[in-house]
Amino acid sequence: MAYDPENIFAKILKGEIPCDKVFENDYALAFNDINPQAPVHTLVIPKGEYISMADFSVNASEELVTGFFRAVGETARQLGLEEGGYRLIANTGENAHQEVPHLHFHILSGRPLGPMLSF
Ligand code: 5GP
Repeated sequence: MAYDPENIFAKILKGEIPCDKVFENDYALAFNDINPQAPVHTLVIPKGEYISMADFSVNASEELVTGFFRAVGETARQLGLEEGGYRLIANTGENAHQEVPHLHFHILSGRPLGPMLSF
């Protein structure tokens, strides 16, 4: 599957669609989810055309992989989530119900989140 440069997060990265920005550096952009599932629900996306974790983990440069993961941690830090804790989710592909085909980590927090999965 090829990367779709018209996906919604690609448009946010290009500035064609606005977002509620939380953090940005050379490697990543973090913004609040439009349909939050918890009091804190922030998405972190890498700057680059990567569909999913499957794509990113193989094809991104060492510098981007490092920079992106540091940015995920930094975003959570800046949101003040380290003391209470937070959950990271990166849905990848069909079984995980990935809706937007640009890699994104969900940062969820702000209350006890309960068990990891509900079936
Ligand atoms: P996925 O199911 O792909 O892991 O999650 C996609 C997430 O993107 C969903 O939580 C959805 O609410 C969020 N989302 C979809 N479109 C937009 C948008 O235009 N702006 C923002 N901020 N979030 C979006």
